[in-house]
Amino acid sequence: MTERQPLRVVPLIDQRTAPLPTPGAAFLSGTRIAASGLLHDSLNRPLRDLRISVTDRCNFRCNYCMPKEIFGKDYPYLPHAALLSFEEITRVAKVFIAHGVQKIRLTGGEPLLRKNIERLIEQLSALRTLEGRPLDLTLTTNGSLLARKARDLKAAGLQRVTVSLDGLDDAVFRSMNDVDFPVADVLAGIDAAQDAGLGPIKINMVVKRGTNEHEILPMARRFKGSGMVLRFIEYMDVGATNGWRMNEVLPSSQVIQLIDAELPLLPLGASSPGETAARWGYANAAGQHDVAAGEIGVISSVTQAFCGSCNRARLSTEGQLYLCLFASRGYDLRSLIRGQASDTDLISAIGHIWQGRTDRYSELRRALPGDTATGAKRVEMSYIGG
Ligand code: SAM
Ligand code: SF4
Ligand code: SF4
Repeated sequence: MTERQPLRVVPLIDQRTAPLPTPGAAFLSGTRIAASGLLHDSLNRPLRDLRISVTDRCNFRCNYCMPKEIFGKDYPYLPHAALLSFEEITRVAKVFIAHGVQKIRLTGGEPLLRKNIERLIEQLSALRTLEGRPLDLTLTTNGSLLARKARDLKAAGLQRVTVSLDGLDDAVFRSMNDVDFPVADVLAGIDAAQDAGLGPIKINMVVKRGTNEHEILPMARRFKGSGMVLRFIEYMDVGATNGWRMNEVLPSSQVIQLIDAELPLLPLGASSPGETAARWGYANAAGQHDVAAGEIGVISSVTQAFCGSCNRARLSTEGQLYLCLFASRGYDLRSLIRGQASDTDLISAIGHIWQGRTDRYSELRRALPGDTATGAKRVEMSYIGG
């Protein structure tokens, strides 16, 4: 048994201006945790998936994520020096891999806005898991720059992309991204990603009741049989700025019902432990899965929490480690990285942090008062990534 050390955490009042105290001696002295690939948190969940936000900036203003009223012209984004460099990110990634991480997802903000992102991808794609396999290396993007960048991303070693797309109707799409960005350009980006071999591509659609639920069926029809996996995400109460209301959440069960009435579905098993999406396959006339028609996924973070299998850690743009999408505090790894900490120190610190993890916000959400985003000021999704 390892002895637990007291950990310093960073309360996030404003993620960009709050002082970032160094975790300091508590991490670096006392019982050391070595990397075994077998790290588990206090609820026995392993560490397998690392999501890295490479920028807090975005060229869209999706109202569920970066509403214009808050993220306006004067919004104080992080200065470049505050961001982890590509070398720092790669160093942290290696430490996480030593603890058993198999999958890395680059996100943001809009990750393709980070200058020379291909160089980071080259560095990460050279890493190997503990079993000696390449990482499952992927990226989530709004697709706006994909037509231009897909080939270079593939050449740099990116395996797959997930593209966010909230509807096919141009007016609906322009209004949801709130910067009047045309849907045709994202569809061209998806085509370019497919041509470049960045598949199997996943398409993420956030469903907001009263805003884009009428786009569910057109999206299902469009991507059925395309080789891409369309996933419907319940609108979540992430962050503190999107004015979330429960009555704007369309439960995934209703999404399934709606599609099944026109395009019959059948449930499929999970393809990997910790998978966030419940999978449904298109059925053929005999009621069996029509593999050529493909499948869809539903991510029911609000109505059916999946915290029990959550094996994801999140690294913010400035090197704060978050243990939950809904966390209001992070652990300042950047000060360790930029200080005197050795890789062994970092391994031990992350080991202590993960072992102490108790987060299961979505499971506890129902017990919270009211139907609005409540409690401590939570970190914004554009800062830690989805
Ligand atoms: N900009 C990139 C994009 O949009 O794909 C990557 C970052 S974005 C924060 C990652 C994912 O989070 C996107 O698929 C987005 O739709 C999703 N997302 C953002 N805010 C959300 C919310 N309030 N509820 C559910 N999903 C959300
Ligand atoms: Fe930007 Fe992605 Fe957030 Fe939309 S969801 S505002 S594209 S970071
Ligand atoms: Fe994981 Fe937190 Fe989401 Fe639960 S609420 S699945 S612990 S990120």
